[in-house]
Amino acid sequence: MKPPLYVHIPYCLQKCGYCDFFSASAPCVPPEYVRAVARQLEHLARAFCVGGWKSVYIGGGTPSLLGAEDLEFLCESIKAAALNKEAPLDENCEWTIEMNPETVSRPLLEKAASCGINRLSVGIQCKNDKVLRAIGRRASERDIEKAAELIKNFWPHEWSADLIAGLPFQTKEDIERDIDFVERNGAKHVSLYSLTLEDGTPLKGAIDAGKIPYDEEAAEELWLDGRDLLEKRGFLQYEVSNFARPGFESIHNGAYWAQESYLGAGAGAAGTIYGKPTGWRYTNILDAAEYIKFWLEEAKGFTDLNAGRANQEASQDQEARGQDCSQGLNAGDGNCSQDKNCGGQPKGCTNLNAGGAKQEASQDQNVRAALAFPCQLEALDMATQEFEYIMTNLRTRRGASAAEYQARYGGDLAARLGCKEAARVQNAGEPKGFTGQNAAAARWIEKIERDGEVFYAMTREGLLFLNKFLEEL
Ligand code: SF4
Repeated sequence: MKPPLYVHIPYCLQKCGYCDFFSASAPCVPPEYVRAVARQLEHLARAFCVGGWKSVYIGGGTPSLLGAEDLEFLCESIKAAALNKEAPLDENCEWTIEMNPETVSRPLLEKAASCGINRLSVGIQCKNDKVLRAIGRRASERDIEKAAELIKNFWPHEWSADLIAGLPFQTKEDIERDIDFVERNGAKHVSLYSLTLEDGTPLKGAIDAGKIPYDEEAAEELWLDGRDLLEKRGFLQYEVSNFARPGFESIHNGAYWAQESYLGAGAGAAGTIYGKPTGWRYTNILDAAEYIKFWLEEAKGFTDLNAGRANQEASQDQEARGQDCSQGLNAGDGNCSQDKNCGGQPKGCTNLNAGGAKQEASQDQNVRAALAFPCQLEALDMATQEFEYIMTNLRTRRGASAAEYQARYGGDLAARLGCKEAARVQNAGEPKGFTGQNAAAARWIEKIERDGEVFYAMTREGLLFLNKFLEEL
């Protein structure tokens, strides 16, 4: 198995005024945190039979707070955890690290590149000091310019820019300047988010108290301006908030939207193992100190015990069926022996099951045994997984595949979405391809035939109403 991996680094120089992510203020990442992540990676790879990683995303927090040595240790640990020691990364492995402008440095860029990282995601948000101060960002315009300069000169791979539209004091000219700036500096991928005012954040408090002026409608307009401009410049909207030049879409995030099982390491990181009859989502403990304590001090017994228990259960079950691990369940066809990259896995490890067509009860037990570390564990029944499949796939302009939906959930996707193909809409200006049983589907869903396969996707306008559409499903 080669799942996508997310690694969370929950430390930031300071807390931004709008942020409610799990992160703590710290001047650097404690080295013991990185060692704890390495231990969890080792456990996950053994428990889930990870031959290699399909993609890796180191996010935060601020991963660029890692020193060059710790970054190298983390990258080596990610590779070392995979069971196929000769090829721990998929041939086309996309490996991203998030960086904040004020922490970008030449040594860090060079170290990241030498470790195999091939994509940066840089949190610019808005290059205007007045806006940056209002939202409590640490970086200044000058930091952002310096970071872009360093990336241009010392980063040999791609980079993606994070921008936020709808910030206090931000104007249409700011958005235009920011898009100009990232384009001029070579970004081929842009995430354009709209500001969400989260309860309990200082920014929301200040706006509610009238200390910072804020106009919600104007904010929405700004996002639309940004979207239009990005598209005009050749960045195609391939997901609600993501735009890329063709061929530069994020592979890692694409795996989430396509509902592939993935693993997460680090405090607060989540992983999801889709399966039948139950899928499992874990969110690692939201406390970095406890996380470190568990994985460095308490986990030894746990990992040995669980590896042993999982192996024992699985081998008993496999014995009964005359199988060994190399014939376990996997995402594709249920036959792990087909996965040549799985090499060297311990017997009895639990394969991640994307879509869960063939997962069985014993496998389910193994998954739970493998996840018996401090985390919040959520069972995903088939109805939940089915809804999530629709929700994530419809975020993308690629859409949801009718055949895949049928194979995973055994139903007719068009009917589920409320589409009724019999009454085709003829007018060119009308919604594409067909009308629907409900008004929302008729307006916002289009049918796309691609390479002989049928997909249902939100229209460009429909993407703006995705949440409303899902509420009515
Ligand atoms: S840098 Fe990112 S994760 Fe850290 S506080 Fe700011 S928005 Fe949150």
